[in-house]
Amino acid sequence: MFYLVSIGNFLYVIIFLLGVSLGSFLNAWVWRTRENFRITSGRSMCPACRRQLCWYENIPIISFLVLKGKCRTCKNQIPKHFIFVEAVTPLILMLTVWSNLHVLELNPLHFTRDVVFAILLIIIFVYDFLYQEILSEIVWFGALTGLFFNFYLDYTLTSLLLGAIFAGGFFLLQYVISRGRWIGGGDVRFGFMMGLWLGWPVVVAALVISYIIGAVTSLAAIATKRKHLSSATPFGTYLSLGTIICVLWGNEIVRWYMGFLR
Ligand SMILES: [Zn+2]
Repeated sequence: MFYLVSIGNFLYVIIFLLGVSLGSFLNAWVWRTRENFRITSGRSMCPACRRQLCWYENIPIISFLVLKGKCRTCKNQIPKHFIFVEAVTPLILMLTVWSNLHVLELNPLHFTRDVVFAILLIIIFVYDFLYQEILSEIVWFGALTGLFFNFYLDYTLTSLLLGAIFAGGFFLLQYVISRGRWIGGGDVRFGFMMGLWLGWPVVVAALVISYIIGAVTSLAAIATKRKHLSSATPFGTYLSLGTIICVLWGNEIVRWYMGFLR
């Protein structure tokens, strides 16, 4: 018994370390995509003075804490999202592993799919939060990979197409009515991708959950008088959260809700 627990813990320690490194890589990727660097060009650098970092300034989470979030030489603040992504990526990966081991019956293809979806959602979340833009190349790539994975998993084409038409159409309608003032084209593409990832009816749950998270955040912002928090938070971040919840627990949520109706 003790043996099994240790093996399980060891697995999560490995996943944590992989997740921290992945988070660090995603930070670099997002920043370099924004700054139009090539990801292969050179080593990590300070975002302010662009000095190349030495190894001990480049240890995820730890370096940020030791250097108190500042560059060692130019003393500029390192943006807080760097440590946020380094800390949250391993947590999401651990949840993905946990959900695939305990909620579902373990299926390597399903597990790979969930890891890919999680990584794409972290990129979309961070990029949209920082720059108010949902990267369309990530969404198109996501839509195609999702379709590929789900084709080999037990999804029907009808469920996927219905989901894509429903969620994509839902945002397209708002886009057309408001002439692009309420939401952007990025949200329409995101809705389309959500449908291909989750299928009908789980995509409906993901939309509802995204709106609930958005409403709760706005209320919290009003209550704490930090209005800028809700008005500046783009909708793609809420959609990413609603989507990851439903990638991991969508079927359970729908089943739970259906139990209420009966
Ligand atoms: Zn610097």
